[in-house]
Amino acid sequence: MTNADCGCNMANQKDRTWTARQLMAVLVLLALLPYALAQAQDYTHQEYTRQATTAPQVDDIGGDYALPEVQQSLPRSVWLQGLDVILLIAGMGAIAYAVHRGRRRWVITVVTLGSLAYFGFYRQGCVCPIGATQNVAASIVDPELAVPMVVLVFFLLPLLAALLFGRVFCGGVCPLGAIQDVVLLRPMQLPAWIDRWGGLFKYVYLGLAIWFAVLPAEQRDFIICRFDPFVGFFRMTGVAWLMGLGVALLLIGTVIGRPYCRFLCPYGGLLAIVSRFSFWPVSITPDEELDCGLCVDSCPFGAIEDLRAKRSTCLACGRCFAHCPRQQLKWGQIELVDIENLVSEQKPASDPATAKAAK
Ligand code: SF4
Ligand code: SF4
Repeated sequence: MTNADCGCNMANQKDRTWTARQLMAVLVLLALLPYALAQAQDYTHQEYTRQATTAPQVDDIGGDYALPEVQQSLPRSVWLQGLDVILLIAGMGAIAYAVHRGRRRWVITVVTLGSLAYFGFYRQGCVCPIGATQNVAASIVDPELAVPMVVLVFFLLPLLAALLFGRVFCGGVCPLGAIQDVVLLRPMQLPAWIDRWGGLFKYVYLGLAIWFAVLPAEQRDFIICRFDPFVGFFRMTGVAWLMGLGVALLLIGTVIGRPYCRFLCPYGGLLAIVSRFSFWPVSITPDEELDCGLCVDSCPFGAIEDLRAKRSTCLACGRCFAHCPRQQLKWGQIELVDIENLVSEQKPASDPATAKAAK
């Protein structure tokens, strides 16, 4: 593992020099800007037509056919779309603050519950960047298709936040992550190889989702939305087998932290790629690394590797902070002398060099 893979950084995050990879990531995101502006222009020039006025009318159909009053819901007002964006930014901002400055998990818990209520049950899982991946992919190949600005913003902002601060969207703003987080009762550690190999499946799913989204309009399918295992809970209705899958994932999620996020979420795959370049990744310790290994089993998502939070898989949940003696010292929970005792007790077992020598 390289420094770029983990929260480990030279001089404990004091080195702020941009690496070539980070610069490249910024350029890639900037390259998306013309696309975003073009989409915005396309969308604002499109007239909204209700299907009720364009579909075959009663006279065309004949018989006793009665035209339903509403065949397509009205678009959400601009103000309410703005509210969605503001809450998205506020949620990610609060989590970025909580993991980088405040280092308080209760803030993340509050955001998690708020997002579950608003983006989950109130907004019924829509708009969401996971599904937006398909809209964006389809609009790139189909000039007839324009993506609503709010969808585009929801797709891009969590990626930008991941580039800056790590996966703060996953920390508690995403309703799919939130619903799995609240059921996590007794997390157990999985062997690292399960995360490594099982985690590849989300990239396969991402590839399939893009493939189906870019097919010609008549064959196009948005499989991420079609097979979303949790949206049925938010809408209180859904296909039986899909609701069953959601229940199964939540039951598994009581002991295995966020199975959908770790193994299935296609947008999580994109976030994992972007967060590898993040400028201020999550670090378990507030300042100087101790390498004592006390945090090693604290992560329910298998994101601690070689005593560091791994950038691509760390979900910015803040659970590991409380296990760090340096953090406890900052909070005034222990004295300096306790740190030395804890470190000397733990070091022989956790020191990678000692472990290697023992093998
Ligand atoms: S991995 Fe996917 S489902 Fe999980 S929190 Fe992140 S975006 Fe949401
Ligand atoms: S517990 Fe794991 S996922 Fe949560 S912040 Fe720490 S390393 Fe990241």
